[in-house]
Amino acid sequence: MRLQNPPGGLPWALYAITASSLILNLVLLVKVGSQDAQSEAMVSAEAAPVAEAPAIVDAAATEHVPEPVPAPIEEAPVAVPGDLNVVQASVTHSLARTFQNALPAEHADVVSAVYARPFFWDLNLRSDLQKGDTVQVAYAWDGELARVDAATYHSKKLGRTLTAYSFMTTGDDYASYWSVDGVEAAERLVDGPLNQYEQVTSLLKDRPTHKGMDFKVAVGTDVVSPRNGTVTRADWNWKYNGNCVEVRYSDGTMARFLHLSETKVKAGQSISKGAVLGLSGNTGRSTAPHLHYELEKSGRVVDPIDYHGTVRRSVPDSDVAAFSTEVERLQAILDTAG
Ligand SMILES: [Zn+2]
Repeated sequence: MRLQNPPGGLPWALYAITASSLILNLVLLVKVGSQDAQSEAMVSAEAAPVAEAPAIVDAAATEHVPEPVPAPIEEAPVAVPGDLNVVQASVTHSLARTFQNALPAEHADVVSAVYARPFFWDLNLRSDLQKGDTVQVAYAWDGELARVDAATYHSKKLGRTLTAYSFMTTGDDYASYWSVDGVEAAERLVDGPLNQYEQVTSLLKDRPTHKGMDFKVAVGTDVVSPRNGTVTRADWNWKYNGNCVEVRYSDGTMARFLHLSETKVKAGQSISKGAVLGLSGNTGRSTAPHLHYELEKSGRVVDPIDYHGTVRRSVPDSDVAAFSTEVERLQAILDTAG
């Protein structure tokens, strides 16, 4: 199950081999050697793909200027053709550049953004990358969108390999990424605004112009109040926020929930922790179904991660056997590139 480092000393060589196997109709093997002359400083100098290609375009509650962001990206649901592309590459310059060098041009930025999400909890994908780091990814491409089934990142800084295997545990509505040890790659807010969601697609720290945290979630999902409080506003600034709710938590923190499909509360209403504020949606300045959640205290933006604290789940005991089988299958696929 361990990541095999690619042979070094292949300056800008790119090999592409097409092969077939019982598991895959098509496996694309790509190896890219690192350029020896590149410094670690250059590796960390460029922006991370999360910032370069955010998955979702929206505007924070108080923003009136559209953000200068590239075309929105949203990964596909499960219905993607079975062909998987498997890539292993040495990190050069940035994650974005690494994928641009190793993947077909039209795949690179999309796959890079999706790949980054399981790992942005453990690694600053802008400053923590080092020469000699390696990536592996197995992904499906449907002509426009990418679905990443398995990925690894070998980090010299951490001195270990981060792993992410897609698996849906019993009782969950969405597949998530789990490490080889069965620990979820993503952290979850303690008492967050959603009980079920697909993925966090944007952290507060990812973009300075973006004041909240974005959760990719199907339209119509209950958005609940994480705290007791009072509704201060609903459905203001519709062009940007869509249907939206603002709650003053009992500790004075202001919370905003944007892009809802439906609002269930009115200004002035007292609400209890867990009360349904509305249903998630894709309204206002939003190009894909998601919830934007932002916090503010005394006029300052607060990171929901800090405010709520986070937990990491483990694969439940009843799913461990199935998970192990799936990890073996996915790792075998990744290893075809090793
Ligand atoms: Zn947002």
